[in-house]
Formats: sequence, structure tokens, C-alpha cells
Amino acid sequence: MGQMRAMQLDGPGKPLRMVIRPLPVAGSAELLIEVTACGVCRTDLHLVDGEIPAHYPIIPGHEIVGHVLAMGERTAGFTIGQRVGVPWLGHTCGICSFCRKGQENLCDQPEFTGCTRDGGYASHVVADARYCFPLPDRFTDVEAAPLLCAGLIGWRALRLAGDGRRLGLYGFGAAAHILAQVATAQEREVYAFTRAGDEDGQAFARLLGCVWAGSSETAPPVMLDAALIFAPIGALVPAALRVVRKGGRVVCAGIHMSDIPAFPYADLWGERAILSVANLTREDGASFFEVVEKAGIRTVTERFALEQANEALLRLREGRLTGAAVICPC
Ligand SMILES: [Zn+2]
Ligand SMILES: [Zn+2]
Repeated sequence: MGQMRAMQLDGPGKPLRMVIRPLPVAGSAELLIEVTACGVCRTDLHLVDGEIPAHYPIIPGHEIVGHVLAMGERTAGFTIGQRVGVPWLGHTCGICSFCRKGQENLCDQPEFTGCTRDGGYASHVVADARYCFPLPDRFTDVEAAPLLCAGLIGWRALRLAGDGRRLGLYGFGAAAHILAQVATAQEREVYAFTRAGDEDGQAFARLLGCVWAGSSETAPPVMLDAALIFAPIGALVPAALRVVRKGGRVVCAGIHMSDIPAFPYADLWGERAILSVANLTREDGASFFEVVEKAGIRTVTERFALEQANEALLRLREGRLTGAAVICPC
């Protein structure tokens, strides 16, 4: 029997630690995947901090790229050796009212990769084939990893923001650096907001086509049609509302956020809306990968070895990353 290596999170507040386990066996609808790259997402930090419900001990990681090593008998369409991507949405029930209405992202009995089932901070992972994606050839494994959550859930957030031309992005990390390119390709104007004094982040945003980049404490030169918030900071919600025009939307794209401070009703009035984005559907994935191909999106990544997972998480926590961190287990 073979073995696998993984960085395991035993519980909230603990550092990840290397474990060796027997190689898992793929169930009838599952793929056994050799992981070549796994993106590091802010959600992984929320798991470490115990801010979202998870099944501990857990192997985090839900932006997985790898190759199929073995598969169950009900995995039509996949072949041994094929490159696949494994996203956050790991499984849905298929029968709840949300699943039946095409809102599987809101499923009552979901499983989430690297949260309720083991993820990709590991040499191997088992995934439900029905939720895996083939990936565009244009990207290397490392380049493709951030597409699987930062890109994909960012894409869902962008669609919920409507088709307004002037778009604000709060927090210019892994998701925003992809979405800025998607929105620019759609001929929108993108306004990037970073932490005050983050000159490097603002320069990075301009490099990727943003027409303006500045501190989240300042107002952009024009009113925005919509704003997407990727930073987990509740105070950004009223800040974004104040720079969005009447009828505009503020979309909160993260899974967890600090409390939203009270604000005057006048800032919401005028049919402005605040909404959140939860998870993804498989249709989001299909449409996103098509857009990514057409728009010539590129991703900017920093690589870490599997043993360096804690270092990658720390760098993300401290905002000391350009683009997305990616763990390479081999
Ligand atoms: Zn369901
Ligand atoms: Zn994520």
C-alpha cells in the first residue's frame, strides 16, 4: 500500500503539521488525484482561526490541480493521467429545494473540499468526480490553482454585481488580481482599494489594468456602479456603500467577515443593495473557464513547498504576497 503526505490542521489555533497516511481509495464516483499544486485561500485562514465550521482534523486546500491516478467505476468522462481541478464545492445532495432550483451553491447538505472533506495540502486527494473540472491547457498547474476559488468565486461575485461599467475591488489579493483582468477584458473600469500605504499593492493593481488604485479609506474620483469586497473587514461595507451610486450593489465575496459597523440608513437608501456570495455552482465553473480562455487571463503566483504551508498562511495573513500563494506538494 502506498502512502501520502499531508499538512493537517488538528484544530483551531494550531499550526498545521506534517502527517503520513495510507493512500486513500477512490469510491465509486471518486477520483484519486496526485496533487501537483494547491492554492492558498483566505478561507484556509478562517479554518485555522476557527471562524467557520469545519471537520477537524482536516487537511485544508480547495484550489487543487493534479492528475488522476485511479478512479471508481462511476466516473465517466475522466481518464487515468488526466489533469483535473478540484474546487471548494465538493459534493451536494441533489435533492434539497436549493439543489432542485439550480442553486447547488446553497445546498442544505453540502461537502466542502478542505473543510468538511480532506483537501489539497497533500500529495494526494480523493474528490467526487462530478464536481471536478477539466482545466484550460494554457495554464501550468501552478498558474491554474488560483483559478479554482479566487477566480471562480470572484467570477460568481462579479456576475452578482450586475453589468455596471465602474467596478470597485476592495482587497487586491488572489481574487481581485484575476477579477481585475476579467472585468477589464469586459471593457469595464476597475478601481482597486488596498490597505492604506500599500504602494506595492496599488502599483500591482495598475499593472493589471486598473484605472485607479488607492487606499480603502479614500473615495475614488467617480461614483461606482458596484463594489466587490474581498477583504474580511466589515467596516468596508459602509465605506463601499458611500462610493456606490443609487441602485448600485456592494457584494461581499468572502465566507467570513468581521462585524459590519452601524451606518446611516441614508447610505443604503436609493435602492443600493448589499449581498453576499456563497460557494459556487458547477455552472459558474464552466462559464468561468470559458471566459478565462477568451480573455487571456494570467495569474501571478508565489510557490511554497508542502512543508511551508504555515509560512504561506502567515504571508497571506500579513498581506505579504503578490498575487496568490500556491503549495507544490511534489
Ligand atoms: Zn442540496
Ligand atoms: Zn477559497
